[in-house]
Amino acid sequence: MVLNYKVIGSRETCEIPEIRIDWKRGWEKIDWNKAKHHLCVGQRDSGKSALGETIAMHYPQIIDIYGSSDQEGLAWCRSPIEEILLVVGDNCDLNASWNVTKIGDLTFTEMNSYECVLTVPGFYSTDHELWNALETFTGLFKKRIRFNNPSFLLIREASNFLYSRIGTKGDTGKDAKREFIRFQREMRHFGYSLFVDSIRWTSIDREMRDLADYTYLKDLSYVGVSKDISFIYKYVHPRSFAGLGPQYFAILTSKANIGLGDFDYPQFHKIPGEDLMQQFDIRPEFGDVIELSDSQTVGDAEHAEMMKLYIEDELSMQRVAAIVNRSSGTVMGHINRHNMGIARKKVCMKCKRVNSGFETTWIDKKRR
Ligand SMILES: [Zn+2]
Repeated sequence: MVLNYKVIGSRETCEIPEIRIDWKRGWEKIDWNKAKHHLCVGQRDSGKSALGETIAMHYPQIIDIYGSSDQEGLAWCRSPIEEILLVVGDNCDLNASWNVTKIGDLTFTEMNSYECVLTVPGFYSTDHELWNALETFTGLFKKRIRFNNPSFLLIREASNFLYSRIGTKGDTGKDAKREFIRFQREMRHFGYSLFVDSIRWTSIDREMRDLADYTYLKDLSYVGVSKDISFIYKYVHPRSFAGLGPQYFAILTSKANIGLGDFDYPQFHKIPGEDLMQQFDIRPEFGDVIELSDSQTVGDAEHAEMMKLYIEDELSMQRVAAIVNRSSGTVMGHINRHNMGIARKKVCMKCKRVNSGFETTWIDKKRR
């Protein structure tokens, strides 16, 4: 078979799962040589992720880092791809038969010397750490000024990605969406093809949909397609969307071509209920992580500061609260938490992690 795209490395010799399209209006060839946006909408378990993996196989480099909490991305470890890099949190020691790098040590050159770069939530001890890692990746992507072939970014649940922006930056949902749109535009500029999937139209704005070169519609159940593209019903029967098997899809392209398609299900795809970490004998071990402060969380250093002000400087809870800019209820809550740690484990872990010196000091709450 003559391919209309170039593959490198282990993909030169392996079988690439195929995508077949029966065009109902117009005709076109999916262009794998340019940075394109693939958007996929469909119910849970409608085979979105599997389609993403099949599309990914057409690109020389796959970056799968925005995955779901079931560690689905690890399935690449049993794909035909040989050059795989696992990226883990700085606090994680990973025992695995694949190459491993901590996010803090990952360089642009190292990232680009692998065919598949992947990270999963299970490699981080907190959500915060994972979100910071995604920021680091985004920074690295932007260093890609020159490229011959597009790389491929697999974003398995676009809404997770949005929440991650809310998580790190304290953005509102609206800000996060705007950021995500900007991110998608930028990534194209730096030579990344994107696959973004979503359960519903409503979680993907019109603006986001307009970015897509290829929109794949999978089983949409009773929800159906959004009004602005309902014209596709002239070419594809509405009933064909409810109960579409996971290997089928309808496609609408930015050139307004419409077709029905099917694809070879990747054999390495994760089966529901499988524990991939266990299967590949991947064992992450975590050290103690220092918890950071944000508007909702009192981090370890801030907690220790509160305890010091109360114990050493003998200030009232109200004074301490004013200094750290929290409510006095929060200060009282942390004194209780500190004492509870000492009562239960003989040590306050928050104080211990930052070596405050007060980790075993019981606090007598005599000043309000
Ligand atoms: Zn403490």
